[in-house]
Parts: sequence; structure tokens; C-alpha cells
Amino acid sequence: MDKKIATLEDLIKIVKEIRNDADVDLLERAYNFADTAHKGQLRMSGIPYIVHPLCTAINLAKMHVPDNIIAAGLLHDVVEDTPYTLDQIKEEFGEDIASMVNGICKVGKIKYRGVERYIENLRKMFVAMASDVRVIIIKFADRLHNLETLDCVPQKKAYRIALESMEIYAPIANRLGMGDIKGKLEDAAFRYVMPKEYEWVKKLAEESIQLKQPQVHKIIQETQTELAQANIPCINVHGRQKHLFSLYRKLLKYNRDITKIYDLTAIRCVMPSTADCYAGMGIIHSRWTPLKGRIKDYISQPKPNGYQSLHTTVFYDRGAIVEFQFRTLEMHEAAEFGIAAHWAYDENKLRQIGHERIKEMIDENQLEWMNQIADSNANSANTNSFLEALEEMKLDAFNDHIFVYTPKGDVIDLPEDSTPIDFAYKIHTDIGNTCTAAKVNDAIHPLDQPLKSGDIVEIHTDKSRKGPNPDWLKFAKTRHARTKIRQYARQGITSWLKDVIPNPIKKRK
Ligand code: MN
Repeated sequence: MDKKIATLEDLIKIVKEIRNDADVDLLERAYNFADTAHKGQLRMSGIPYIVHPLCTAINLAKMHVPDNIIAAGLLHDVVEDTPYTLDQIKEEFGEDIASMVNGICKVGKIKYRGVERYIENLRKMFVAMASDVRVIIIKFADRLHNLETLDCVPQKKAYRIALESMEIYAPIANRLGMGDIKGKLEDAAFRYVMPKEYEWVKKLAEESIQLKQPQVHKIIQETQTELAQANIPCINVHGRQKHLFSLYRKLLKYNRDITKIYDLTAIRCVMPSTADCYAGMGIIHSRWTPLKGRIKDYISQPKPNGYQSLHTTVFYDRGAIVEFQFRTLEMHEAAEFGIAAHWAYDENKLRQIGHERIKEMIDENQLEWMNQIADSNANSANTNSFLEALEEMKLDAFNDHIFVYTPKGDVIDLPEDSTPIDFAYKIHTDIGNTCTAAKVNDAIHPLDQPLKSGDIVEIHTDKSRKGPNPDWLKFAKTRHARTKIRQYARQGITSWLKDVIPNPIKKRK
């Protein structure tokens, strides 16, 4: 597990590979400042403390964020853990970097001392995040390094940190469209949350990848040759391996049968334009036979989360099956780095390339869920609604989403397989509680039948109805609807947190 200890040179090298106009001077200054401040401090593993902010900064660089966020990552623990003050950082590095460091301090170190303290901590995190989304991005990078060094932490604590990463941090990253960091957080946490399942998937993936690995390089070369011969420009072709936790989720869908999974390794072609994506797929199809029904055009019909790419699966040599993905550079950046990719382009360029996905993400409405979660006061009724909001978000980690419409044309976002009941409760609790029937695309639709993306859903209500039917629990998909149905039956809401966080009052015997 012990890798070579990272250095400042590593950071500079990574940053320069991504942007050759990187502000090396700023990064060096931030590093030296942090190095002096943390002098003499050690991590639990015994290595110098500076390695942690440095690895945090490296993680940030790999998320393609600009230099000022990387600098704030280098400084993120200075104010909390050393005698240096925020004013000194402001003097050295200016208002903007200081305000990010301050945001990190406000989020604070998560303390697992009883459910209430813990919830308060989480709430603080959402408040800080709602005021500056860059703060949570630094938190992701910080958390990823902490997950990578969890072996030095007592087992119970390690489990809690990993579980929280999987259930809270990864879904937030997902909501921000940051697929790469989401996958990394999940994989790092997976090992501690479900050690047995992790080992199983890891072994399974290694065994099947070993079969394909020598071929990947060959396929990449052949693909490049085919495209060049057809005069189709291409930015790069690379292999991508599926993240382990994402593979695990898919295995559960397919009866744990890895032979049903074709995208363990995919060949990704990053192309200059959308037209080049389609042309490239044509060339691949003329060379290798495509599998029937496996062409997915997420360029003209993006996934509900905005994902865009052109997928196809072909028979390669001797029946080996390979998935190809074609996408423009902007689609690639949006899928991997999400909101962080926004800072890589200025507003004008975004408009020029018509980068809808990223524009949508920076649109304030898209970030409103964050404000909604942050925006609850500390009384107990709101604690429940805060927990419910968290539950809803947790579901994001496990479900794809569909978008459906109200008759007035408002878009409602629901997890896959949601029913009209879920829709009704998402609109308003009273609508759910008094729901009697549903019309979908103008036809009567049974309440227990799943909705599809694009459906127009109309709910019929009867004010005299005496609350929800407990049978709805058999098919309601969202935690929100289920909670409301149960609440009506006065069964109270479940609190998953109580299983994980020790209660100090109970502990004192
Ligand atoms: Mn830290």
C-alpha cells in the first residue's frame, strides 16, 4: 500500500500537463507557507503532515480545477491546525484564497460524538457549500486522501468515515456532475464499507481484465490507424477501466454474472466535433461487427443527468466483445469533472461551444438543492426534514434518474422506476396523501406502474380521501414518498444515522 511519498515537483508536473500556463509561482508559495506552518507535525501514519495537504492539492489538480483552488487545498489545514491565522493567509494570498480556507474551517472536522452533533456538522457543511461550491470540492480532495490513508485509523472510525464518504460525499459529487471524483471516493470507501464484496469484485475484475489487458493497447492502435486512414481527426484514444463500485452495482443488476457486462474496459475516443463522433463510429462498424441493440446515442438523447457520448459494442477478435465510446472534449470534461470543468472555459467559450450541460450546472437553479438542504433551522421538525433531504440524496448514489413533466411543463426529477405516487409526493405531501388516480400522456396509468423519462404526469386528487393507502409502500420508490406514507400511519421516520453514530448518553453505563 505504501507508495512513494509525493513531492512538490509531482504536483507541478501534473498541473503543467493539464495547463501549460499554470501559475507555478503561486503553488510554490502556497506549498512553502504550508510546509513552514506544519513543520514538525506528523500524520497518524508517521509521515510529515505536509504530505496530506500536498496530496489534497494533487487530487485537486487531477480534478482540473484552477490554480487558486489548488493553492487553497495546500493551505486547507493551516488555520485549524497551526498557529498561523486567516489574516496572514489573506495578506500573503489575497481575499479569495483566504475565503476558501475559511470555508474549510467552518465545515470543520467531522466529530462523531452522538447523532445530534453529527447532524449539526453535516448541516454546517451544506451551509458552507451553498455559499461557495469550491469549498466542497476541496473537501472531496481532502477526503479522498484521508480515505487512502485509513489503514492507520482504528477500524470503527475508518468504517464511519468510509460510510459517510459513500453516502454523503459521493452523491454530492454526483449531483455536481463530477464523475471521476465520485468514482474515486466510492472505490476508496468501498474497501472499508463492504470489505468482502470489495475483495470479490476486485478479484473478479482483475481476472477478467487480465484477459483483455494485452489487447487494449492493440485495439487503441488499430482504432487510431482506422481513423487516420479515413481522414477522421481524433484528439486521443484511451482505455478506461470501470470503477469497482460502479461495477459492483452493475453486477447486482445482472445476477452477479460478469460475462453479461461488456464495458469493464471501454475504448474512449475523444473527437474534435460531434460530426467526427458519428463518423468515427461508422468507421469502427465497418471494421468490426456491432452487437445488435447496443448502439446508444446519448449525444442526441443525453441521459437524464446530462451525460453525452455515443456508445457501441462490437465483436472484436475471436468473439471478444469491446465497447467504444465517442465524445467531444467538452462532453468528456463535463462527464469527468462536471462543475469543475466550468472554470476551465470562460463564459464566451462556453456559449460558443454551446456547452449546455455545464451552463446548466452553473445555473443557480441547478444548485438550489444545496440551498434547500442547507436552509433548515436547528429545531427538531427541521432535523427530520434535513435527514429526509439527505436520504433523498443518498439514493442518488444507487439510482439513475428520470425526468418527467407536470401538465404545466415543469420538470420533475425522480429516481428510475418511480411511480405516480412518488411523483405526487414530490409535488406536495397533500397531493400524495389525497391522490386517487394518475393520467400519463393523457391515458389512465396504474399507480404502481413505473414512469419513463419524458412522461407527462397528471395526478387526480380527492380532498375527502382519508390519507394514503398503506399498500403504496409495496411499490413507492422514493424514500420521501415512503416516509410520508409511513408518517401518516404514525410510524415515525427511520434514522439510518443511529446505527452508525454512537450515542454518548447510551454509552455511559
Ligand atoms: Mn485535511
